[in-house]
Amino acid sequence: MLSSLTEQLSKTSVTEHDPTHVDTLAELLNNNREWATAIQATQPGLLEKLAKAQNPEILWIGCSDSRVPAEFICGLGPGDLFVHRNIANVVTHTDVSCLSVLQYAVDVLKVKHVIVCGHYQCGGCLAAMSNKQYGLIDNWLRNIKDIYMSNKATLKDLSPIEQGQALIELNVAKSVLNICHTTIVQNAWDRGQELSVHGWVYQLEDGLIQDLKLCVDKKDEVDDIYSYVTNETIKAPAGSARRKRKKSNMPASGVNVTK
Ligand SMILES: [Zn+2]
Repeated sequence: MLSSLTEQLSKTSVTEHDPTHVDTLAELLNNNREWATAIQATQPGLLEKLAKAQNPEILWIGCSDSRVPAEFICGLGPGDLFVHRNIANVVTHTDVSCLSVLQYAVDVLKVKHVIVCGHYQCGGCLAAMSNKQYGLIDNWLRNIKDIYMSNKATLKDLSPIEQGQALIELNVAKSVLNICHTTIVQNAWDRGQELSVHGWVYQLEDGLIQDLKLCVDKKDEVDDIYSYVTNETIKAPAGSARRKRKKSNMPASGVNVTK
């Protein structure tokens, strides 16, 4: 069966249609062979070790932009980063793909850091500032448009370039907050797991990363309305649940603590 498939594939080779593609892809495969040989020589045993399990300490959430390759700009290699990338490094509570990555990274891999890394000149953020239609992606960019509107009073006095830079930083900050607002991260903090969430921005021109100093590493820093009562607290005696609500100023009607 396999040989007949191979034969079939060889008959449908794209060589005769577009030799440029074949050259490009052949180069990639050749590069891969050279890379695999080099890493076996410089870090013997690493690939065999990684084949058994991964143990990254960092979840990287970045933009899909080809100019911001996560491992490359941090000087890291295979096994070092768990990665999720999408257009404009947006984290929302409705994106099941991103939340699944976050949940697996926090609950199973037990990463110690989540880094949201945006980049200046991010096409997604700049597009969100315009009225131009780009198709389906306009719905995704609505998340960033909403951030712009929420901060319009601050942004309106800036030049267009400054507005873009500020929106890119605000978008990173919003993703950091949205990560901290998930029960995934809050439950990890509640069970004493070491976990911090950071906001960074990468600069294309010089390849340097700016730390926005947005590090959040405990639930106390989360606004009350987004701070969830844990399942343990819900099951605890009524007295302790009441104390928890009072501390967080949560209205009793807002959370069902009796179930
Ligand atoms: Zn981008």
